[in-house]
Amino acid sequence: SEELLRNSDRLAVMGQLAAGLAHEIRNPLTALKGFIQLLQSSPKENKSYYPIMLTELDRINLILNEFLLLSKPRPTLFGDTDIRVVIRHVVTLLDTQAILSKVRIVIVEKEDLPVIRCDENQMKQVFVNVLKNAIEAMPDGGEVTVTTLLSEQDVVVRVQDEGDGISDELISRIGQPFFTTKDKGTGLGLMVCNNIMENHGGRLTIRSVPGKGTTVEVELPIREGAAQEDRLVRV
Ligand code: ADP
Ligand code: MG
Repeated sequence: SEELLRNSDRLAVMGQLAAGLAHEIRNPLTALKGFIQLLQSSPKENKSYYPIMLTELDRINLILNEFLLLSKPRPTLFGDTDIRVVIRHVVTLLDTQAILSKVRIVIVEKEDLPVIRCDENQMKQVFVNVLKNAIEAMPDGGEVTVTTLLSEQDVVVRVQDEGDGISDELISRIGQPFFTTKDKGTGLGLMVCNNIMENHGGRLTIRSVPGKGTTVEVELPIREGAAQEDRLVRV
């Protein structure tokens, strides 16, 4: 019966997601319809709407892509991983975006870390999402510090930024589907992260001091051994 409950939970979550998805996609679709009507009546005068239409289409595409990542069951491939290697790789990936935003990413490796069992690609996705959020939180530039350390039972990756932080009233809404404070955000990134962390028996926590910055902590358990067979990732 526990499994049944979890399935119906899953259905409820998918229902909420679908409703949110419909809502998110209806806006750009309505805009596109309006532009097409304008172009139909006077094609020459309204040519300047084409780039805006393409942007709206890109937005629909982005929302659907992130949504599919959430809803499509993917096999999780656990392997023995040095999380520091994953971090270095992700930081390299985001180099260009960081430089363009005048953000410096500093890696601090506190101590030697044990190898952990995780799906490297999924963990990369988590750190890309978290680091992008940190960069986006500092439109005028600043520093992001990524610290890897060891706690009693976990490997911890701490991502600190110097952005504006998150107000107390908004922090509880973070991670809810489609909650975003950004013009071009989807509000799905941290939901995907949470999903992946749950699948790893780990967790993701956010602390924020408005005006000072935000700290995201990703905790991964050190070896549960056989308990972590390949599983499916689902919402
Ligand atoms: P998106 O980035 O598309 O908005 P996310 O799920 O990644 O979606 O983040 C949801 C929201 O959480 C963001 O819109 C932002 O308001 C808040 N947030 C996340 N990370 C940070 C951060 N480092 N600093 C400030 N706000 C953040
Ligand atoms: Mg994001």
